[in-house]
Amino acid sequence: METGNHKSSRKVRLGMRREAVVAENLENEVHHIKRRERERMVGSNYFIEAIGLTKIYDNSIIALNNLTFSTKARILGLIGPNGAGKTTFVRIATGLLKPTRGTIRVLGIDVAKGLKEIKKRISLVPQDVSPDSRATVYEHVVCYLITRGYSIGDARKRAREVLDLFDLRSLRNTTCLRLSGGQRKLVIVAAALAPYEVEAVFLDEPTTGLDPANRIRFWGLISRRVKEGVRVLVTTHEMEEVEERVEEVVMINRGRLVLQDRSQDILSLFKDKICLDILEPNKFHNVFKDRTSLHSVEKIVDLGTAITMYVSKDAYEHLLDILCRHSIEFKIRRCTLKNAFLWWTS
Ligand code: ADP
Repeated sequence: METGNHKSSRKVRLGMRREAVVAENLENEVHHIKRRERERMVGSNYFIEAIGLTKIYDNSIIALNNLTFSTKARILGLIGPNGAGKTTFVRIATGLLKPTRGTIRVLGIDVAKGLKEIKKRISLVPQDVSPDSRATVYEHVVCYLITRGYSIGDARKRAREVLDLFDLRSLRNTTCLRLSGGQRKLVIVAAALAPYEVEAVFLDEPTTGLDPANRIRFWGLISRRVKEGVRVLVTTHEMEEVEERVEEVVMINRGRLVLQDRSQDILSLFKDKICLDILEPNKFHNVFKDRTSLHSVEKIVDLGTAITMYVSKDAYEHLLDILCRHSIEFKIRRCTLKNAFLWWTS
């Protein structure tokens, strides 16, 4: 009896130990998975990681060509001339379009594998989008929140909150049809920024067509949500905005990365140069048919009706002499981000 009891209690103890080991292993496994999951989600803290991203459309146009960059910026400016591939990039990053090759991770999530998760955590404002013209501003925001999974009650509450927060209270009951183009854009942006759970917003040329006051309002909405931890990618042609508002710039041209830097650091690359705008382009074209006498000029951006010369601060006096000798009017000024943009993309 005793021996039997002893044996069975040993079995029980062994069994319990095995269970404990299994439970411990399971706990470790869960812990490991959770850690990996956390690292995958937020651990890297990257906003965007693009690796060899390539998009070739059906008509053989290569819109993105092996584009590789990563950023932790809170506000990223994606810039480049028309046709550079900005919209294609935004559509791929938000899962609307599949790349031909390469990988893109947004907030640490591989867009190809975690599209459902991505869609919960980001929002997109495409180019040329307008709110439903029959809805009021308030209804538009409520409907947007409902499409994102909010209950009617929660959507109403959050819509009121957001319109107050973004100073759009006075437009609350206005039908979208009656809004100006700029106001419509603001309403679309406000809705995109409204969901609490949104961690990143992609805005494709959001400020095109906004007057200066609406532009300021737009950046006000953005900076409120950025302070709360929302990341923003904005494509724009407004270099002044990029200089003032954007934390980091990614410049692309013909689908390739041209440069990635903070706007102040881009400008500092030009600190030893000055820009000369030629005020009489026709005369300039006639006098300088061959440009050998302009050897001190580092680069000429000639857009036909507007010519800008980039010259080192050490060498510009020689150039002034030549221009004065030919009585060509010009203006001297510091190089701006717009000039930096033209330097690389013209
Ligand atoms: P950006 O936004 O910088 O102006 P896009 O991404 O719109 O550039 O376009 C990049 C290139 O891809 C352009 O040459 C454009 O004509 C081409 N493109 C864009 N969308 C399509 C499409 N759906 N089918 C074929 N070519 C396209």
